[in-house]
Amino acid sequence: MPKRDYYEVLGVDRNASQDEIKKAFRKLARKHHPDMNRDDPSAEEKFKDINEAYEVLSDSDKRSQYDRFGHAAQGSSWGQGGSQAWDSGGFGQFDSIFDIFFGGGFGGPRAPRTGPERGRDIRYDLEMTLEEAASGLEREIPIGRLEACEACNGTGAKPGTSPTTCSACGGTGQVSETRSTMFGISSVSRPCSKCSGQGTIITDPCGTCSGRGRVYKTRKIKIKVPPGVDSGIRMRVAGEGEAGVRGGPPGDVYVYITVKPHPVFKRHGNDLICEEPLSIYQATLGAEIEVPSIDGKSSLRIPEGTQTGTSFRLRGKGMPDVRGRGRGDQYVRVRVVTPTKLSENEKELFREIAKIQGEDGSREKSESKNFFEKVRDAWEKRA
Ligand SMILES: [Zn+2]
Ligand SMILES: [Zn+2]
Repeated sequence: MPKRDYYEVLGVDRNASQDEIKKAFRKLARKHHPDMNRDDPSAEEKFKDINEAYEVLSDSDKRSQYDRFGHAAQGSSWGQGGSQAWDSGGFGQFDSIFDIFFGGGFGGPRAPRTGPERGRDIRYDLEMTLEEAASGLEREIPIGRLEACEACNGTGAKPGTSPTTCSACGGTGQVSETRSTMFGISSVSRPCSKCSGQGTIITDPCGTCSGRGRVYKTRKIKIKVPPGVDSGIRMRVAGEGEAGVRGGPPGDVYVYITVKPHPVFKRHGNDLICEEPLSIYQATLGAEIEVPSIDGKSSLRIPEGTQTGTSFRLRGKGMPDVRGRGRGDQYVRVRVVTPTKLSENEKELFREIAKIQGEDGSREKSESKNFFEKVRDAWEKRA
């Protein structure tokens, strides 16, 4: 793909001032920063292009070369600069620029970490049945996490010794570096590379944790899931995440709940819906039937002449509300099953009924015809 013109990339005129170039770059870099466009895979590419264009156009030497030779000037005389640095380096090197722009509002590694650091949060996925969700449950879940090393009390230094102050940064964990940036000369703090920003160096590491101060352990922690939870609910178990660093607090465990689909019940909020077959006799004559409920069985009275598709409500037989506000209802939708394997004798009985109803059971049919006629009349009156 041919490289786009740097002026075009930044959207500035060929004789734009340094100030205009700087302004255009800041606006575009902010818009296309990968941290702001996590869903857009092309953002990284755009961001690279913007930075590359700015790197050239903000430097008067490089800019005049570019003006004379175009992209061909790159590589030969710029050596380390240009696009090459990007392919390996990622975005770490631009973090300091964005700290200046936004006061460090982005995620990701940037600020030198020397103080106490909170431990990481841990996600645990818990799957349960609808019955378990209805009754609530207590369970021990295994959590693999970094815990403070008991041998060295989390210091990382061999018991009996202690970490020594880093000579490169004097224990601050940071070194200052004077750099020329687009804002002119500025002083940038970076984590000390000798001590990785810790401020101390472990000369005699703890044998148990190899100087890391934390060890990986799998522990069982007890959790109590209240009745009524649903898929998508996340429960926080405070303080059960990974151990903090340098005296920081531990992280939390987040339990992500998934309730498995149920073979009988569909859930709508706190209501449960099920379908129940009815024989033609039950539907015609009425019946007292037993239906499954989430915590046992319920009895349901079917009135005579019940049509297929009718729903009956069983009050308070749904799911408990997770905030403790009562319970939902259960809806039983009935489906009338037409008999298929009738004996000759049974068929004869149906024929008799049909005769009583009028030829071919036409009385029932005419009733429904009357209904449609009424609807039609109603429409005609409105028209
Ligand atoms: Zn240790
Ligand atoms: Zn240091």
